[in-house]
Amino acid sequence: MSAILPGSTIGILGGGQLGRMTAMAARSLGYRIQVMDPDPSCPARFVVDACFEGSWDDARAAADLARGSDVVTLEIEQIAISSLEAAAKHAQLRPSVAMMRIIQDRILQKNWLVEHDFPVGEFRAIQAEADLQAAVPALGGRCFVKSARGGYDGRSQVKIDFANDVDAAEAWRLLGQQPAVAEKALELEKEISVLVARAPNGEVKSYPSAENYHENQILAWSVIPSSVSAEVETQAQGIACRIAEQMKLEGVLAVEMFLTKDGGLLVNELAPRPHNSYHASERACATSQFEQIVRAVCDLPLGDVSIVKPAAIANLLGELWLDHEPKFDRALSVSGVRLHLYEKHTPRAGRKMGHLSAIGETPKDAVQRVLQAKALL
Ligand code: ADP
Ligand code: MG
Repeated sequence: MSAILPGSTIGILGGGQLGRMTAMAARSLGYRIQVMDPDPSCPARFVVDACFEGSWDDARAAADLARGSDVVTLEIEQIAISSLEAAAKHAQLRPSVAMMRIIQDRILQKNWLVEHDFPVGEFRAIQAEADLQAAVPALGGRCFVKSARGGYDGRSQVKIDFANDVDAAEAWRLLGQQPAVAEKALELEKEISVLVARAPNGEVKSYPSAENYHENQILAWSVIPSSVSAEVETQAQGIACRIAEQMKLEGVLAVEMFLTKDGGLLVNELAPRPHNSYHASERACATSQFEQIVRAVCDLPLGDVSIVKPAAIANLLGELWLDHEPKFDRALSVSGVRLHLYEKHTPRAGRKMGHLSAIGETPKDAVQRVLQAKALL
């Protein structure tokens, strides 16, 4: 296997903020970049050499992208298998179609984790309403029901608990009567993630874990490094690296994990691309996640993942734009803070428009600074 060197062209399926930030890192390394996205004015549009318009199941557009690329990667897991196969005919596709098949479907993903002895919370695969009717009491009455395909940021998920009126029949209807998984609602102590990179030559590197705080099932803020014990950190690193090796990952993979109140460490879900919880790697680590995915898919030596300084990020969602344009000048007055906007033109509630990042003397200090800056918006 030989490295794909600077000057070559990288194709990215998806042109959202993850594609945009990957493209900026790739440009800095001297690559040409093209993306495919349904939206011709997607966030990556303004920083790439070419943008192919095509929906996720547009196999012809995916093939066109791949034809002019030396390697193709992706920034969103929902690309149709037919498009991935079409791209793979014309260029190296990293990560592989085989890995994407497993990850795209929550049922296949959970079964794979169980079969390979990774710890996951109690769950049931749901194919019909009757399955869900039986699963809810079996899981203790409180559960998260998640569509097998297509969800992100808490979309395509319904929570059933004693505090709301949603029952199994209603949840099945709300999720469009599609296959799903029902997961026992866990008592969480903390949420962490580990981003791991693996190159085709077999080299593997995993970042120190990030600690993630969610509101309404959407990431609100995140900090690197996390505050878990050395023992939990070792366990988390082991899990992430073993998944990367056993899936023969080519690229980067974020492993989201739950630390439960009773001390258990469980895998929540896998994301085979750069991840919101590692945006702080641009500030905290010797190599950002965006440079790392470029190195990994181009089969270059992986970058140093060590921490240079603690850093945190806070997401900026569309609702911040509702009353007035956010007061960015005020946020930027906080020492150590930077602004990252994605050039999305229509703010909507829950839509990720950008983020703030901050470095600090300690992880806590970084979180405080970034939240202080956000409050000033
Ligand atoms: P998404 O694809 O939307 O990120 P996740 O499965 O990661 O979906 O769920 C989003 C968030 O919802 C999690 O990060 C966590 O905060 C909460 N959550 C999801 N499943 C559970 C669960 N079984 N128990 C407790 N909290 C959960
Ligand atoms: Mg998640």
